[in-house]
Amino acid sequence: MSSTPPSSKLGSLDYAPALESKSSATIAAHYGLFIEGAFREASSSQSFSSINPATEEELTTISQANAADVDAAVASARKAYDSVWSKMPGAERGKYLYRIARIIQERSRELAVVETLDNGKPIRESRDVDVPTAAAHFFYYAGWADKLEHAGFGPSPRPLGVAGQIVPWNFPLLMAAWKLAPALATGNTCVLKPAETTSLSAMVLADILQQADLPPGVVNIITGDGSTGAALVAHPGVDKIAFTGSTGVGRQIQRSLATTTKHVTLELGGKGANIVFDDAPLDETVEGIIDGIFFNQGHVCCAGSRLLVQESIADDILARLLRRVDQLRVGDPMDKNTDVGAINSAEQLERIRVLANAGDEEGATRYTSSCELPKKGFWFAPTVFSNVAQTHRIAREEIFGPVLSVLTFRTPEEAIAKANNTTYGLACGVWSEKGSRTLWAAQRLRAGVVWANTYNRFDPTSPFGGVRESGFGREGGRHGLEGYLDV
Ligand code: NAD
Repeated sequence: MSSTPPSSKLGSLDYAPALESKSSATIAAHYGLFIEGAFREASSSQSFSSINPATEEELTTISQANAADVDAAVASARKAYDSVWSKMPGAERGKYLYRIARIIQERSRELAVVETLDNGKPIRESRDVDVPTAAAHFFYYAGWADKLEHAGFGPSPRPLGVAGQIVPWNFPLLMAAWKLAPALATGNTCVLKPAETTSLSAMVLADILQQADLPPGVVNIITGDGSTGAALVAHPGVDKIAFTGSTGVGRQIQRSLATTTKHVTLELGGKGANIVFDDAPLDETVEGIIDGIFFNQGHVCCAGSRLLVQESIADDILARLLRRVDQLRVGDPMDKNTDVGAINSAEQLERIRVLANAGDEEGATRYTSSCELPKKGFWFAPTVFSNVAQTHRIAREEIFGPVLSVLTFRTPEEAIAKANNTTYGLACGVWSEKGSRTLWAAQRLRAGVVWANTYNRFDPTSPFGGVRESGFGREGGRHGLEGYLDV
């Protein structure tokens, strides 16, 4: 595969900055824990900083919940379950969900600004993807709340009880919505733990729940690091654990729950293959490859981080791809022109660097975007490795950053064998103009999701989840109800 950089670099077009105003978001100096419908201090009075990864400035401080706080949150959820939520008719529960969805829409600008400041993702993505899709999940599951007996899980499906829900930092609000909406629609009460680097949008969500008059205790939000998550997993009063995060932590959780009767669903990591056949429409495909790996800085569990291209078109695709990579606008996430924002934390930046360096050491060919990176904050320029072998770490391990590994194949069978040569199984993409070839490939790919001529599409009506080390259980769609019902 030719590894020469594009001969005619276009570079990014020059735009005047188009900064989103911060005025729609009021960030308090400190946030406590949201338990029994009100904010309160953590029992230890300990807190940690939440910083803006694009500037390294502190945004606020957040309470660190310990085992006693987890206990209080679970007790509050149990009380609300027994006294109110499990007894409430589905149609009434649905009204609360509709109300939450509408308030998310009303406060969408504020939520998008908070999410971008706290996470580092471009405002264009938080505004156009994270926030509207979060609202869409509440709308969708609101519709199910009074129709559960028609969902295919028996005549009177019952909730599980108290759900402990742990989410990662890459889509903080959206992951919270994926967890809360189906749990509430099915009559469960919740204790949600956001990731320690991105708790802010969950704090705004707590305010939205108050505004929606959700009965106290139906949703409790406890902030903290992995020790808070571990205390929630271990708590005997929790009936179900829904976890989204890394495969390593997922494994620990499954091990610790093995001797209990708690229900569990795990949404874990991935190493998605984006397969391009020789009859694919080239320019559209290049856009899909870009979206597959550089959306949300590549902090996407289902990212198309392994590009598999048919050998006959590999040089052409690579040349177009590198030219397009050079046009990506990297920088201030609050600028509406920005395509690629900041890496969420110094730790994640270090992980990306280590794996990219392994790509160099193992002999792959690195191409780095010529973009200029800001001086402050955590940044990694969009990077494409070609001449990658299946044994390379960058072809096997989840990088969770803006780094693409390009491999080639000669026959469709080889494409499937290479795509399935991973311990993960979350998502794949297939690019071809032949429907029969796409369906042939989809039937053979071992992944929970297969996109055809598109990538990274999320719809509340469609189930999402993995196989193998990408976890089990589905979120979204009718299937997403099952994880919260005693079926
Ligand atoms: P992580 O596993 O480090 O943390 C995820 C959450 O678990 C955080 O809230 C963290 O505080 C908590 N946690 C950490 N240790 C814990 C423990 N021992 N017990 C209980 N909770 C604990 O993952 P991350 O770095 O925040 O997120 C990135 C990972 O999440 C990637 O691997 C990515 O692929 C995965 N992810 C998967 C999906 C999916 O739907 N499959 C979606 C988004 C992210």
